[in-house]
Amino acid sequence: MVLSVKIERMTSHSRQTPACPPAPIFSRWIPSLLIGLLTVTLAACLAPNGGASQPTAPTVDISAASTQAVATIFAGASQTAQAALPTATPTPLPSPTLDPNRTPPPLPAAFTTELLNPIDTPHTYLADTCQYLRSKWDPANAAPGTIVIPIMFHGIPDENISDPNEITKPQLKKLIKDLKDQGFEAISASQLADFLEFNTKIPPRSFVMILDDRRPGTAYGIFQPILEDNNWKMTLAWPIGYGDDTTDKKPATNVAGDPQAGTYPNLWAQIEHYYSSGYFEVESHGYFHNIPMDDNSSDEYLHQELDLSMQTLQEHFGRKPVAIIWPGGGFGKKPVQFARAAGYRIGFTINPRGPVMFNWVPQADQSDPQRPVYLPEGPAGDPLLTLPRYWPSQLSAELDKIRNIGSQAAAHAEMARADEIEYYDIVCAPKYGPMPVVGP
Ligand SMILES: [Zn+2]
Repeated sequence: MVLSVKIERMTSHSRQTPACPPAPIFSRWIPSLLIGLLTVTLAACLAPNGGASQPTAPTVDISAASTQAVATIFAGASQTAQAALPTATPTPLPSPTLDPNRTPPPLPAAFTTELLNPIDTPHTYLADTCQYLRSKWDPANAAPGTIVIPIMFHGIPDENISDPNEITKPQLKKLIKDLKDQGFEAISASQLADFLEFNTKIPPRSFVMILDDRRPGTAYGIFQPILEDNNWKMTLAWPIGYGDDTTDKKPATNVAGDPQAGTYPNLWAQIEHYYSSGYFEVESHGYFHNIPMDDNSSDEYLHQELDLSMQTLQEHFGRKPVAIIWPGGGFGKKPVQFARAAGYRIGFTINPRGPVMFNWVPQADQSDPQRPVYLPEGPAGDPLLTLPRYWPSQLSAELDKIRNIGSQAAAHAEMARADEIEYYDIVCAPKYGPMPVVGP
């Protein structure tokens, strides 16, 4: 009864998002959907390790060539199944002609959750299923369910806020306490890029603190004590500035408590000094910054905002930025392609759709009349370059939900584990090597 209701919801939900780009290559036939739906319910019945034992070692040698054939067959099959999804018609799978004892199991559906807004659906970004599975289950990597909240900060006034998205100093103190009480730790943008690309280990509950625009006083005076106390790093989203407003020409800010205040020749010198403390990473927030990028932006403007800002930051900090923090939250397919070509690994919107996990980014494929400010990310076609970000004012109320998304994802992964590892063993191991195990 419950199950049939759930299937109905899932199916109609799929109809709402016809433009959803290919989510996991491997994920979409119906029995797998059922497994996915049952996950959360059944997870409670499982032993801590899900009772999922490693499949027995292969008894037959499969050549790389036939493995490739299986992979191809399955890729084709999953695309067919995917196309059939909106009508929920089961699609029979072609049978591989290999040893029937080593038929790869169908891979379970990707994790979805009803805790997201229905318009925001998880998007995957890794095309290579074998690489994904290896990164996911390598015991040296982050555990499934590891979750990250990107947060954008602006001014932190003492008491009166000028913008409903700002928070005051006491509210910041409470937010940091709430995050710490729930076991969250801050990571840097480059740690996030490593995690999202390779599932590199990070604290299972993480957040990224991004301070937008040029705010040396806020960085040093308000955040640095928090960073020192917790051994955290913060990401500065730094616009270079233009004309008289360029960072070269701007005077340093006189920050109370900074023993070197008054000695910096300009704003660059000040922020370079703060960078040398090791508590800050400086990422690109455009060059001119004041006109958001979109699909109508000229090539010249995009090169300036993306390539020239990257090059300028590299000159000042000796480090290539990994992130573009889209100025004004503006992006599009063309800007995203230019950012990718420039070498950015991740990018941040101003759309607070949910937390992110490895190969899992909540995005919208169409505009939402309820939230017209949030540009849909799906059409840009690059989830890593269009990550969601929360306003700090929204976050404390969302933390329970965010933690639950992580717990659900961990339970889903545990259910999927045996099949995924067996699949890897049969299809991937001959080419990618055996799944790593915990070292001696
Ligand atoms: Zn800005």
